[in-house]
Amino acid sequence: MQNIFKTSLTPQQYAQQDYQKQVRAPENCLHCGRAHSLEALAYYQRYVTWLKEVLRIWVRRFWCRHCRVSISCLPDFAQPYRAVNTATIEAAFNGQTQKPDVQHWVPAIEPYWRRFQAHLPRLLRQVGNAFGPVPLEPTAKGFWEQLLRHCADLAGATRQLVEQFHTCLFGTYRCHQRRAVHAK
Ligand SMILES: [Zn+2]
Repeated sequence: MQNIFKTSLTPQQYAQQDYQKQVRAPENCLHCGRAHSLEALAYYQRYVTWLKEVLRIWVRRFWCRHCRVSISCLPDFAQPYRAVNTATIEAAFNGQTQKPDVQHWVPAIEPYWRRFQAHLPRLLRQVGNAFGPVPLEPTAKGFWEQLLRHCADLAGATRQLVEQFHTCLFGTYRCHQRRAVHAK
C-alpha cells in the first residue's frame, strides 16, 4: 500500500539529503491498523521532475510483521505513477503557462489532464460529496476548483484522496487498495 506524507522539502532537497533514510514508519499499519508493527523493508527508485530537470529519488518501504503487507512512503511533492512533480502539475492545471517549468513539461502534463477527465466519473463515485456538492454534469475543471478550495493544494488533495478514498486524481491503483482479508 502507499502512504503519501507531507513534506516541505523540494524534490532536489529530498534527493540531496537522502531524506528517504529519515522517513519514519507510520505509527499504525495502513492495511491492518496494528500499531508498531512496521519494519524497514527497502527502497525503490522512481523519477520526479524538479523545475526542468528529472531527478531519481528513493522511496522508503516498510513491511508489516502482522499482515505482511508492504507500505511505501511517497513524499507529497510526487504523484503516484506520474513523473512531473505535484507543484508543476498544479500550476499547469491552474493555467500558469508563463512558468518555465510548466512550459517545459506541458507535453507531459496534457495527457495527465485527459487522464483526470477520464477518471472523473469513477473518482466522483468514490468521493461523493466530500469536496462539495457534485453538480448534475460534473466537469474536470469544476472538480479541480472544488478540490483546491477544500484542500488548498494538490499535495493536500492527493494525501486525502489516497488516505481516505484509496484513489488519486489520475486513477485508482492497486497500491492504494486494501487486500481482501480472509477470515482464518
Ligand atoms: Zn499490517
